[in-house]
Amino acid sequence: MPEGDTIFRTARALGRALAGKPVTGFRSTYPLLTRFDDDTPFAGQTVDAVESRGKWLLIHFSGGGTLATHMLMSGSWHIYRPGERWQQPRVNMRIVVENSDYIAVGFRVPVAKMFKPQELARALKIPPSAIDVLSEDFNAAEVERQLLAHGSEEIADVLLHQEVMAGVGNVFKSEVCFVTGIHPFRKVATLGLNQVRALIAASQKLVAANVLEDSGDTIVTYGGRKRRTTHESDPGASLWVYGRNGEPCRRCGDPIRRRIQGPGARVTFWCPRCQPMPDGTDVDG
Ligand SMILES: [Zn+2]
Repeated sequence: MPEGDTIFRTARALGRALAGKPVTGFRSTYPLLTRFDDDTPFAGQTVDAVESRGKWLLIHFSGGGTLATHMLMSGSWHIYRPGERWQQPRVNMRIVVENSDYIAVGFRVPVAKMFKPQELARALKIPPSAIDVLSEDFNAAEVERQLLAHGSEEIADVLLHQEVMAGVGNVFKSEVCFVTGIHPFRKVATLGLNQVRALIAASQKLVAANVLEDSGDTIVTYGGRKRRTTHESDPGASLWVYGRNGEPCRRCGDPIRRRIQGPGARVTFWCPRCQPMPDGTDVDG
């Protein structure tokens, strides 16, 4: 699943291609979207703005409608010039929004809905900007309150709850726990308030650092081996722990551990020495 920073970058690129320009064409394989287009044609409307909200990507049209798409595991948005060859087969096309300069294509986008303004505000699955780590309206106190309400759950799993804090995906989850020195399997209720605040601050900082203009497409949380010109073949080369099972911790040299975690069975990485359990034990497996 794309992390919040990926959706943010996609929204920024789509915004540059689409915002402020009249739509000249709209196509979709989704009947509900084409029906909306029949009733309120997109062509002739202008794209007012494109924004990310957690893992949702929102395209706001001047007619008042908002197209909300969620990528889940498979979806992606591409931007092409007219006549440019698509990098995915046509059969994967789900949505096309076109203007005189660009064609934005949503490939295999599994979730796409149109909202009217009043519906968008009520759509519970779209996180409010107050809990989006990349939003200017981010409210750390609100996220803290929500996070503490999940006391019986393991912290790394709660970091993935997009209704608690939006924007942290599976890679950042492990990285945030490492940089704060907190064992990912600790129950939230065992954490001190300072630790909870450090986790929230680190989430904001790490995700935000990855949406800088020159940050590229690779998630970088560890800068020690970063190369500016060549492409690292090892996906874990820019990270503290994610994808580094059995490799030496970059701080202490102990082997990094890996384990499946939570109801979603997501992979988690940590350093047993830098991120100790308070009672000195570590999880099995
Ligand atoms: Zn370590």
